[in-house]
Amino acid sequence: MQTFGNYINGEWITSGDTFENRNPANTDEVVGLHVKASAADVEKAADAAGAAFPKWSATAGPARGAILFKAAEILDSRFDAIAAEMTREEGKTYPEAKGEVRRSINILRYFAGEGSRFTGHLVPSERDRVHMFAIRKAIGVVGLITPWNFPSAIPAWKLAPALVAGNTVVLKPASAAPISAYRIVEALHEAGLPKGVLNFVGGSGGTLGKAIVEAKPMKAISFTGSVDIGKWIHAEASKRMLRTQLEMGGKNPTIVLADCDFNAAVENVANAAYFSTGQKCTATSRAIVEDSIYDKFVAALAERTKKLKVGNGMEAGIDIGPAVDEGALKTILDYIEIGKKEAGAPLVGGNRLTGGAYDKGYFVEPTLFADVNENARIAQEEIFGPVLAVIRAKDFEDAMRIANASPFGLSASVQTSNVSRVFDFVYGMEAGLLTVNLPSAGVEYQLPFGGTKESSFGPKEQGPAAFDFYSDYKTIYLKY
Ligand code: NAP
Repeated sequence: MQTFGNYINGEWITSGDTFENRNPANTDEVVGLHVKASAADVEKAADAAGAAFPKWSATAGPARGAILFKAAEILDSRFDAIAAEMTREEGKTYPEAKGEVRRSINILRYFAGEGSRFTGHLVPSERDRVHMFAIRKAIGVVGLITPWNFPSAIPAWKLAPALVAGNTVVLKPASAAPISAYRIVEALHEAGLPKGVLNFVGGSGGTLGKAIVEAKPMKAISFTGSVDIGKWIHAEASKRMLRTQLEMGGKNPTIVLADCDFNAAVENVANAAYFSTGQKCTATSRAIVEDSIYDKFVAALAERTKKLKVGNGMEAGIDIGPAVDEGALKTILDYIEIGKKEAGAPLVGGNRLTGGAYDKGYFVEPTLFADVNENARIAQEEIFGPVLAVIRAKDFEDAMRIANASPFGLSASVQTSNVSRVFDFVYGMEAGLLTVNLPSAGVEYQLPFGGTKESSFGPKEQGPAAFDFYSDYKTIYLKY
């Protein structure tokens, strides 16, 4: 079995205490052992990143981009194996894992190209013979803290813009799924990234997260994960005036109107609610359905939900893998019990799956609660599992009111053929990512990504917006 090391100042540290990474579809299988980093390792990593910064930030952008491009080629050459490893460590199905690894490769290629397009501003001065312009510069050492649910794509979409803009990095992946991020670090190492530019530390979020926030060379922290930890990072980092970018939870609504393409709407809601075991930050967890089609829609959605196949994501024909670990399974089952008290028995699902191979994993039935009160806990709190609350709305205006009555604002979707409703939704919906006649989940990397309200804080990620976080302007007035 492979022991996965930490990567500090260009060296792989492969000795020391380890933690296990088990397959959530078959807990008999240890996918790998990961060396546990300490707070002192984070300090070393941050110091190495600090020492590497002057040279890396002065390296030509296209040369930085070329290393990212080469890393993408290396990942591509190992595509199937890396995707299979992701399914084994995180539980998502093999086709979903392949989609994610493809996305990581595309992200690296996209930002590799940005190395040649790192532009500033040039504008005419009001004064004669004054040349004025603003250039973008890297900000320094950045700490990246990532979750397990997109264990490759999220590290990729933070690392790629950070590095290509000339920053140096300390990356801490989620303990539940560190190998997918390790594979990107390994590819960047093999692609020739200079020592110290990227450092990788695995281990307890509490210990390493605190050490990242406290490390002297740190200038900024980009975090994706739960709201409470995001708020803690922001509070601590603000004391040192570190720049923060926080992407956190959601309670994403899909509004279904009577004039929608009915079958497509059923499919879009089922897809967004249940695929990836509902463990996408952009997953739909509230379906808000217009009264006149409510009964028909709920009946059709229930039929569709019953057909979903749950199992080991490496097997063909499986739609939904397990929850990522025992803690996640317990949270989901606890919320199902809360839901039963609030809304009665679910129309579909509601149980852990047991018997045979199910006994070795954290499998739960996709669960559909109907006639949920908009203020119920299962309609307000993030569950992060395959549990959908369906809520009845009088009309579009009522649906918008219900959708916006949430502390979160990550993604939202509307299913309708009425173009005026589409624009009312676009301008009135309090969320950072909107989809129309598509699932609420399933975003690309070429446009800004992020939410509003309690879901996000700071500049957006991805697309051209990524550099609003990973760079700063320097403005120059020059008399000639
Ligand atoms: P999490 O428990 O908050 O963990 C996220 C990361 O923070 C992990 O690397 C974790 O390390 C680390 N961490 C834990 N305690 C910490 C501390 N005290 N200080 C600093 N870092 C600490 O979240 P998760 O369970 O991995 O992910 C699920 C959550 O992420 C959901 O709320 C979901 O909505 C959100 N999410 C949001 C987005 C978005 O873009 N908005 C995308 C994906 C996921 P350990 O793994 O070692 O505990």
